[in-house]
Amino acid sequence: MRGRVLIVGGGFSGLLLASMLGDGAVVFEEHERVGRPEHCAGVVSIRTAKLIGIPQSLIEEKFYEMKIFTKGGMLIWRGNPLAVKVDRVGLEDYLYNECLSSGTLVKLKSRVTRVSEDGFILTRDEKVEGEVVVLAEGAKRFFSRKLKMIQFSDDYYGLQARIKADVQVNSIEVYLDRLAEGFFAWLIPLKDRREAIIGLAAKSSAALRLRLLTFKKILEKRGKIRCSDVKYYFGGTVIRGVVGKVASGKVVGIGDCVQMTKPFSGGGLYPSTLAAIIMAEKLKKLINGELDWRSAISQYRTTMSPLIRGLRASYLAFKLVGLRDYLTIKIMAKGARKLGLQDNVLSSIDYDEHFKSMLHSALNPVKVLQYAGTLLMGLI
Ligand SMILES: Cc1cc2nc3c(=O)[nH]c(=O)nc-3n(C[C@H](O)[C@H](O)[C@H](O)COP(=O)(O)OP(=O)(O)OC[C@H]3O[C@@H](n4cnc5c(N)ncnc54)[C@H](O)[C@@H]3O)c2cc1C
Repeated sequence: MRGRVLIVGGGFSGLLLASMLGDGAVVFEEHERVGRPEHCAGVVSIRTAKLIGIPQSLIEEKFYEMKIFTKGGMLIWRGNPLAVKVDRVGLEDYLYNECLSSGTLVKLKSRVTRVSEDGFILTRDEKVEGEVVVLAEGAKRFFSRKLKMIQFSDDYYGLQARIKADVQVNSIEVYLDRLAEGFFAWLIPLKDRREAIIGLAAKSSAALRLRLLTFKKILEKRGKIRCSDVKYYFGGTVIRGVVGKVASGKVVGIGDCVQMTKPFSGGGLYPSTLAAIIMAEKLKKLINGELDWRSAISQYRTTMSPLIRGLRASYLAFKLVGLRDYLTIKIMAKGARKLGLQDNVLSSIDYDEHFKSMLHSALNPVKVLQYAGTLLMGLI
């Protein structure tokens, strides 16, 4: 069998890309159904939801603020809305149907066992040649590691629980807590506050479920949730780390497998969406015969380079701010509480472009004074 674009992995990135390519693409997905096993919280900005083209029916909740709690303080991040919670399993079902209606072949229960730089892939049943192979295998990163497309990883273990509860808060709450060392824990109210997702990610996988249940107890003790019952658990590897190489021979990477995530939150849907849109534009030209594979990949690399540079710089910034378990944020939250500036510190930070907006803030003297003041007061 021969196809023009072969996509390894029918998760979010693979399906989104394929839905834009039509019958020029074939997707290979190892599972029987797309979207399963569920792993993602599905919180994105309105901008990202629009870029993906998510129908309203898949928006479970809109959030106008996120509260970030530290031991000695709290910061409030507002937006209009700041973020939405998307039905993630439903989103992949939707993208799958979009693929089918645009003529893309999606082969389920079709695990890829080999990928070579010259455009061949192997499954249990067939050897397929493509002009370009897109790796969209997710956090597993088996082939992206083999092809040396990523060098440095910074992984966290994420566990979430969908709970039934009497939820007492309206906003997303984030806790910089020891239970989630190096990362954070979260509470996302859902279904008119009758349900919620609680979750945490941490560097070590030790006793993760016990830690999540302890977090649930803490939330109960603080009166954030009442009468809670776990419906089910889900989760997976949360990816941070430096974005990998864009391509190796005829193989291009997208999404978690090349660590395309926002370093502060591990959120991958925004950068993967931008990459899928850019990649689709170049690969459509390949499919139409306007570009050969070399030019398509080279144009993709050039167009992507500002985004990749931004994500890499963002990772470095995160490493600084995240030093000693987010000490800087903890100091700022304490200072903001003392100065009554809990609402102001994060006001200019963009939900998707943390780093870019932080740089812009650094050019604003009022913001610089605010940051300096909160840091100083936090230290006293
Ligand atoms: C706990 C947690 C919470 C998260 N919350 C958010 C959030 O709120 N917002 C956000 O933006 N991001 C979030 N993320 C990150 C987000 O889920 C990922 O960035 C996103 O799913 C990446 O999409 P992907 O297509 O690259 O990988 P995936 O969605 O993992 O898809 C990879 C697909 O490839 C398939 N596959 C793998 N190997 C093979 C093979 N050999 N052959 C065939 N198929 C194969 C897999 O079965 C899978 O379907 C979260 C992640 C975790 C773990």
